[in-house]
Amino acid sequence: MAALASRLGRAETAAVVQMSARARAMRAEGLDVISLAIGEPDFPTPPVAIEAAHRAALDGQTKYPPVDGLPVLKQAVRRKFQRDQMLDFPIEQILVSNGAKQVIFNAFAATLDEGDEVIIPTPYWSSYALTAELLGGRPVFVSCPQNNRFRLRAEDLEAAITPRTKWLLLNTPNNPTGAAYAPEDLAALAKVLERHPHVWIFADEIYEHLRYDGEGSVSIAAIAPQLADRTLVVSGVSKTYAMTGWRIGFAGGPLPLIRAMALVQSHATSGISTVGQAAAAAVLDAPQDMVAEMVAAYRRRRDLVVEALNWMPGVTCVAPEGAFYVFPSIAGCIGRRSSGGRLLDTDQDFATALLEEAHVAVVHGGAFGMSPHIRISYATDDLTLTEACRRMAAFCGALGYRP
Ligand code: PLP
Repeated sequence: MAALASRLGRAETAAVVQMSARARAMRAEGLDVISLAIGEPDFPTPPVAIEAAHRAALDGQTKYPPVDGLPVLKQAVRRKFQRDQMLDFPIEQILVSNGAKQVIFNAFAATLDEGDEVIIPTPYWSSYALTAELLGGRPVFVSCPQNNRFRLRAEDLEAAITPRTKWLLLNTPNNPTGAAYAPEDLAALAKVLERHPHVWIFADEIYEHLRYDGEGSVSIAAIAPQLADRTLVVSGVSKTYAMTGWRIGFAGGPLPLIRAMALVQSHATSGISTVGQAAAAAVLDAPQDMVAEMVAAYRRRRDLVVEALNWMPGVTCVAPEGAFYVFPSIAGCIGRRSSGGRLLDTDQDFATALLEEAHVAVVHGGAFGMSPHIRISYATDDLTLTEACRRMAAFCGALGYRP
């Protein structure tokens, strides 16, 4: 029989995708399901982006683009890096991809040899580990628990680095915890990395603008210019501008790495949709007040959800600094029985019972490498969130937890 690749055995569907699909299927059966599973802004794409895409299509920008990105977008990305992160990448050191997700794929495909180690602070966005494994890498998980406010400590990084380490993945603000690193955290990590010149640094800053603690975004690349020849700074328009469907991400980094990633991309996709690139260029260069408006809404929602969660029996939640997720501990709910009769031995049992009985979809912490937690995305409107919190409170209240 014609066979599939053995490497497929190392790939699995992300739990976020599974949970969202399950919620959709239940809705199709007529059930009133609220999904807080997927990390997708509920806002519409800014009109300035849509108009630019329309204009680009009418102007005939409908042919194969340059593999590494249209000059108009690369120039806008360059200005964005200068404006937001005080980083100056010449345009040949900028690559545009199909979302930040393809940046990860390109970077790993361009650098990983079989068995190379990829350090992933945990909890982590599941695509890192799944993509590293698919491309022959070996994830090395380093625990960053709630009592460290979910941040990687310098001494834990030092202990995890070996001669086989290829990458450190550093995601701030973080998915799934919302934790954001302070400049002094980044400086401490940079000090460790200086001692290990064989390690690449993947600075995933896709949530850079979604901060609620009054602090601006800080890149490790700006804090540690001495690491510039091995730091890849990654962002995109999906989260900041509510443009997930346009599939535009970008990276700035050292020339040899960017060239190698462009080579991978040339064979994978030949380049990125021209109209999407026109939309991204327009939004990056537009007045940025729309971002401030969305951030104000996310901050309000974060406060609403954190407060509600901390009232729920068996649940504790720290208020995160950024992104649009919370990652509460549900330790007090484990080992209890739901009102529908399900025994909650794990956070996966909790998420399943919550979906089946309270019709709220969340993702279990195990999918991000840390249990017993759940991840809640609060990128949805206040009314829906309030109703979801009401259902969760009733569900947790019925578990009989007493502190
Ligand atoms: N990095 C992180 C931490 C994410 O959470 C996501 C999306 O969920 C991405 C990268 C990928 O974003 P996109 O491919 O939409 O640009």
